[in-house]
Amino acid sequence: MRLADGSEHRADVVISAADGRATIFELLGGRYADDEIRRRYDGLPVAESIVQVSIGVKRDLSALPPMLDFPLDAPIDMGGALHRRLVLKHHCFDPAMADPGKSALTVWAEANFDHWKCLRKDEARYAAEKDRIGQEVVAALDRRFPGLAADVEVVDVATPTTYERYTGNWRGSIHGWALGMKKMQFMMRMGMSKTLPGLHNFYMIGQWVEPAGNVQLSAASGRDVIEMICRQHNEDFKGVSR
Ligand SMILES: Cc1cc2nc3c(=O)[nH]c(=O)nc-3n(C[C@H](O)[C@H](O)[C@H](O)COP(=O)(O)OP(=O)(O)OC[C@H]3O[C@@H](n4cnc5c(N)ncnc54)[C@H](O)[C@@H]3O)c2cc1C
Repeated sequence: MRLADGSEHRADVVISAADGRATIFELLGGRYADDEIRRRYDGLPVAESIVQVSIGVKRDLSALPPMLDFPLDAPIDMGGALHRRLVLKHHCFDPAMADPGKSALTVWAEANFDHWKCLRKDEARYAAEKDRIGQEVVAALDRRFPGLAADVEVVDVATPTTYERYTGNWRGSIHGWALGMKKMQFMMRMGMSKTLPGLHNFYMIGQWVEPAGNVQLSAASGRDVIEMICRQHNEDFKGVSR
């Protein structure tokens, strides 16, 4: 592995937990991608990214259902995507998320990655668009829960480029591949290879080698790879097999 500061580190085994495309085609320069891998990365759809508006309010909303999906009086433009409903979650189930009497709220909406990528080139317009969306979402919540806007203490807006910047995931995808039910069931049965042809002692884990990727499957793929390595070295695997 070569780090950003130029230092090099050698290891018996290397496991990449980063974005699949960046690992295969950027870090490894596409040298270990066969036709099947190229077809997958060229052809399979990826899960769309999102705009997430996170709001801290000085109001206890724990009596609400944990998730509410409600229609809007007027649609909100979330940057390249018009939304006529909002999906609101509160996180009151976790007392660590807000002080007593307060609540942490999130609103998710599918978003257009290309729109945000283009906007990001102009920092002032990008920031203004995030502000507008934050204000429109708070105003919509205020209509649904009168007086809520006055209780808002903090608003943060994350966009598809925020997810791309923090995680390096292709197009800011939030859970890897976006497969239809049939294809997903097929691929989950078949599994996706965690190794690359011609590259020994190298493994990939995470949402790009686990169709229907999520936290649990991504973590489990790490455990699976350790089991594979143990088997290869005739070592006992002390974890629980899937
Ligand atoms: C807003 C949001 C909400 C979600 N909610 C849920 C949920 O409720 N339940 C659920 O199960 N899943 C949820 N998911 C999906 C879940 O978070 C992902 O599927 C999961 O985190 C993927 O794990 P991963 O380890 O494959 O990749 P990631 O979590 O994306 O981790 C990749 C890591 O690699 C690092 N990295 C990338 N490139 C490099 C590099 N070149 N060098 C060094 N490090 C690098 C990144 O910084 C990052 O830390 C959500 C995702 C999002 C974005």
